[in-house]
Amino acid sequence: MEVPAPEILKKPLVVPHKILMGAGPATISPRILHAMSNPVLGHMNQELFQIMDEIKEGIKYVFQTKNELTLAISASAHSGMEAVMSNLLEPHDKVLIAVNGLWGSRAANMAERYGASAVKIVTSLGDNFGFEEIEDALRKERPKLLFIVQGETSTGVYQPLEGLGDICHKYNCLLAVDVVASVGAVPFLMDKWGVDAAYAGVQKALGGPPGVTIISFSSSAQKEIFRRATQSKVYYWDMKILGQQWNCYNNVRPYHHTTCSTLLVALRESLAIIAEEGLENWQKKHEQGYRRLKEGLERLGFEFFVKDENKRLITVTSVTVKDFDWMELVNYAMKRHNVEIAGGLGPTAGNILRIGVMGFNCTPQTIDRVLDVLEEALKHAKTKKAKL
Ligand SMILES: *Cc1c(COP(=O)(O)O)cnc(C)c1O
Repeated sequence: MEVPAPEILKKPLVVPHKILMGAGPATISPRILHAMSNPVLGHMNQELFQIMDEIKEGIKYVFQTKNELTLAISASAHSGMEAVMSNLLEPHDKVLIAVNGLWGSRAANMAERYGASAVKIVTSLGDNFGFEEIEDALRKERPKLLFIVQGETSTGVYQPLEGLGDICHKYNCLLAVDVVASVGAVPFLMDKWGVDAAYAGVQKALGGPPGVTIISFSSSAQKEIFRRATQSKVYYWDMKILGQQWNCYNNVRPYHHTTCSTLLVALRESLAIIAEEGLENWQKKHEQGYRRLKEGLERLGFEFFVKDENKRLITVTSVTVKDFDWMELVNYAMKRHNVEIAGGLGPTAGNILRIGVMGFNCTPQTIDRVLDVLEEALKHAKTKKAKL
């Protein structure tokens, strides 16, 4: 062999226990970890089809939708964004993108790769959008699709959506929403709010592992997918075919790709835990978790990046970096305590810290533990800054 077997692989695997309190993934529960140790099923096995059907029911519950075209994609949440853009846009279509942080910018980038023209409306960082501003843009631009993020994790901003669907439909525009970091923790009523496409990863407020994405399209969006003149650009995200594999249309389940039964079982358990606890209770728990964290952060003297409390995303709280070295704080918490806190992302890099309270971490004990670690790490990071 010219390339010998790596010595490093002959050492035992080491995976430490960490408390993941950044913007996701969050620590996952022993129950889900246990579910992931089940045998692997074939992607055409009846037992896996049954699990897939149960998952669809769970997605409909957390999205509050009756949409036929509801399924899970075998990839992290970016795939939801790709699937929305590639299925709903054709070359030369116009999409309006609401940008108030990294995720909107990324969506615009994707839309352009599929040949659409992306028009952006932009708010200042830490703010959300008013509906008048959006309606003005819809009236002027007449896009086919509006894309907006319910929970913008790069800034910690929450975007209200109730009523936005009606405004979009008045202008013959479909509404697509990224609910990756918000669904489960805050209300999301897909049907009632007239949302035409929505997707979420599982590793944030739904309490599961990364690597699988839930997605749903309204009947109008589904019609659009079947009416399009050109094939959707990516086979892997093509909802016409994926919808068949997930038995959304006609009880044939042709092979599209090999689904990962290990991740699907984990997704099924994440949704099952929420169904057992009740979605309202799951949301209430996140609201209480946010409040406990917020009070603790105030006590420690942190300043919130999103000044207006009504505009704060409860799953990811952002605080301003001022009299401390943020990287020292983050590294200290990780090295000394195996606690993950996130720095800023994209336009907020270097300016904020982001502390996520999601899923299995959403307990008073874990939040208090992380606040203790933050207190110690902050002291350390202030000393480091003072010495500079
Ligand atoms: C985390 C996140 C994503 C991307 O998720 P991946 O699983 O990393 O692909 C998309 N949108 C928002 C709002 C997020 O917070």
